[in-house]
Amino acid sequence: MGSDSSDNIKNDPLAPFLKSIGEDCDRPACDDTKSALTAALGRVNAAKKKKGEKQPGGYTACPPGKDEIGVSTWTLLHSMAAWYPKQPSDQDKEFMTNFVKSLARFYPCTWCATDFQKNVDLSPPRADTREDLCIWFCEQHNLVNKKLGKPLFDCTINKLDERWKKSSDPKKCQE
Ligand SMILES: Cc1cc2nc3c(=O)[nH]c(=O)nc-3n(C[C@H](O)[C@H](O)[C@H](O)COP(=O)(O)OP(=O)(O)OC[C@H]3O[C@@H](n4cnc5c(N)ncnc54)[C@H](O)[C@@H]3O)c2cc1C
Repeated sequence: MGSDSSDNIKNDPLAPFLKSIGEDCDRPACDDTKSALTAALGRVNAAKKKKGEKQPGGYTACPPGKDEIGVSTWTLLHSMAAWYPKQPSDQDKEFMTNFVKSLARFYPCTWCATDFQKNVDLSPPRADTREDLCIWFCEQHNLVNKKLGKPLFDCTINKLDERWKKSSDPKKCQE
């Protein structure tokens, strides 16, 4: 019936697109275009769903981009500094310094790595105490924040511990 067919068209999500390319969906000739579009739309939606699907840890199962690597790396670095020994041994200091230099060499965003290497040369890691190291990483992060026009973090040990070691408001930080 005529009204059934126009209802079908109204409810068809592809109808506006088919209309825009001049297809009359009442005609059987429309079926080929429609099935091709439906298949393509299905593939696009499946790809979107796959990319956006969060794993239990909150990440997606896709190669990470610059920002995802950045956030993950800063999380690791600030957390390592937060839990670095208060009185590190000579070996602790040496390992930490070498770790930072290796990171600057192999950091997977190449232009970020070039600037990071320069920054580390200008201001070598301060790994004599936990507080020194926390503040040094904070300053390094702020150099990048400044370059990207982002707000600077207040590099005091209290603010850093609040963010990276122990929140004074544990409820705020519950999952
Ligand atoms: C070594 C390194 C070099 C990088 N270089 C570049 C670059 O050249 N170009 C580029 O586009 N991206 C670079 N990045 C990535 C960039 O720094 C960010 O990670 C990315 O832009 C995502 O930013 P974001 O705003 O999500 O949070 P991020 O900047 O990743 O910060 C994550 C969290 O850290 C906290 N935080 C912010 N600043 C500080 C601080 N100073 N001290 C302690 N905690 C802080 C905040 O709570 C913030 O939410 C680099 C990352 C690293 C690790």
